[in-house]
This record gives sequence, C-alpha cells and structure tokens, in this order.
Amino acid sequence: MSREAKVLMLYTGGTIGMILQENGSYHPFSLENLLAQIPEISQFDCSIDTDSFDEPIDSSNMLPEHWQRIALRIKEDYGKYDAFLILHGSDTMAYTSSALSFMLNNLGKPVILTGSQLPIGIPRSDARENILSSLEIALARNDEGGPLVPEVAVYFEFDLYRGNRVQKVSAQDFEAFQSPNYPKLAEAGVSIKYNRNYIARATAGALQVNLDLDPRVGVIHCFPGMTAELVLPQILNPQVQALIIRSFGAGNAPNQTWLLDALSQVCSSGMPVINVSQCSAGTVEMTKYEAGRKYHEIGLIGAGDMTFEAALCKTMLLLGKNLKGEEFKLAFCENLKGEVSI
Ligand code: ASP
Repeated sequence: MSREAKVLMLYTGGTIGMILQENGSYHPFSLENLLAQIPEISQFDCSIDTDSFDEPIDSSNMLPEHWQRIALRIKEDYGKYDAFLILHGSDTMAYTSSALSFMLNNLGKPVILTGSQLPIGIPRSDARENILSSLEIALARNDEGGPLVPEVAVYFEFDLYRGNRVQKVSAQDFEAFQSPNYPKLAEAGVSIKYNRNYIARATAGALQVNLDLDPRVGVIHCFPGMTAELVLPQILNPQVQALIIRSFGAGNAPNQTWLLDALSQVCSSGMPVINVSQCSAGTVEMTKYEAGRKYHEIGLIGAGDMTFEAALCKTMLLLGKNLKGEEFKLAFCENLKGEVSI
C-alpha cells in the first residue's frame, strides 16, 4: 500500500482500560487514559483514529444493541479505514466476535478484537502486547497488497483466532482463549506466523451490514437430575422463538418422556430447537448413540462443531430474518462464515 494505512480503534470497555476503585473492584475508564499508557503506538506506520462507547462497559453488560453500534460504526467509515481494532472485555468477546462475523457481510478488511486479563496500567499487564500485536496484524498485507486477515478475529496472548470459533476458557491465565475446533489463524513469536490456508479470503462486493437480531432464544443446560417442573416452563414459554439444548458429549440428552414429548411438541410447531454439546471440542452426531438418535428423530438441529457462542448468535441472526421450520434449519446448517466444519 503506497499511502499511509488508516486504522479505527474502537474502545468498548473491559479490563484493558479499567482502573481499581476504592472498593477493590475494577471499573471501566477512559480511552485517553488507556492510550497514554502505550506511547509505542505512535511508532506504527499508520494513522489511528479513535472512538469510544460514551460509557465504556464491563463486557458482562454487552447487549445486541452494542453489537449493532459496533457494526454500524464499521459500516459508516468502512471506506475510510483499512482496518478496525475493537478493544473489548474478554468475558463476552467470543459472543461479540461471533455476532459481528454474521452481521458483516462481504467483509474485506480486518476487524480484530482484543482485550486483556490485567488493566494496562498494571506493570505485568498483558494489554500492551495484545494491542500492539493486534495492530500489526490489522496492518499486515498479503503478496497482492490486500489485507492478510480480512475477517473478524480475536487476538489474545500471542494467538490469533477466528472470531466465531473462539471461546473464553480461563479467568486466570493470560492465555484466556481457545479455538477447540479450528486452527489458530496466526501465532506471534519473534515474528508473526500466519496460518494462511485457514484465513478467510476477502469477499468481493460492497460491505453489507445485517442489524436484525432476535435475542428471544431459550437455553436449556442438561444435567443429571433436571426436572420437568423446572425445565418445562422454559421450553413451553410462548416468548421463546428458538431453543438451544446444551447436550452431553456427541449430542446426547436424557431420554425421559417429559423432555422428549415437550421438545417433540415444539419442533412440530416449527420452532427451531438446536443441539449444541456441552463439550467444546468435537462435533454433535445425534445418530451415534440411541440417547441422541431420539432427539434427531423428533427434529432437533445439530450444531456440528460450532461453539455455543457462534450457535447462539447465528440463531439470533436467522430469527431476525424471520426464518422458521425447514428454512431456518437449512440456513442454520449452512457454513455462513467459517463457523462450522462441513
Ligand atoms: N469483566 C471484564 C470484561 O469482560 C473482564 C475482561 O475484560 O477481561 O469486561
């Protein structure tokens, strides 16, 4: 690229920019404070514009409205910037990166999310490295001069992951994320090694942003001893537009009649019922065991090797398009943004 690259850095909140309050809890602080801690950023050969949520948030408070705000900001200035860096709390980063991957169609530029386990003002913080390497990745070009990572990705502790394949797995380790069913997109050592065969290609056509998300999704986490009294009201709740069953292993669930009957009833009504395993690694294969086959027969939709976060956001997006029954199933089982191995 002959001209100077332009990056938009959007600060949403999270530990990365937090300060310690008198009561001993971390609280989101300002972007100015955060940037003041990394003067090295000025050494990059690019110009960086910044934006921030009016009130930076702990990502536990993230809502679909915030995802819309981020997607709209990217859309507004898509032509102006070469890459987008989103500073975000780690707690729900995998949900935001999954949602954005589905909301941004024809993406041809890097959208890199990063955060940290310790605030940037703390000497041992992981924030500095995470921001600086994310920036380097956002600016990296391929042999044709195009962006090397034109997709929504998460960078954390020396690793770059596909945004809709990643999960937060540790509240303690700097290595807080994993991508159990898809290879890392890059690893940062002395140099950054890109796993080029696994990085998405830029899509042709103008960026198109899908803002319609319907969050009316019920989630049932299976466990030994779950009872009809507690679970049926949620399955039969008329507000719920789709259900996600968090099953065991390869997609198995208790075979009690009350559960089979209730799920059979809602499946026949055309409501999508999705089977996502509680196991992070591996895939849902409902026909492998009799305990799963029964759910296959009544019409549950297997999520394959999708993460829970990706399956949830994909469900919200497809409900937002008013898809139901067979139409929903066909769209859900398609690989939309590299979120599932088919
Ligand atoms: N609670 C914080 C958040 O998600 C944790 C973090 O940033 O790592 O905003």
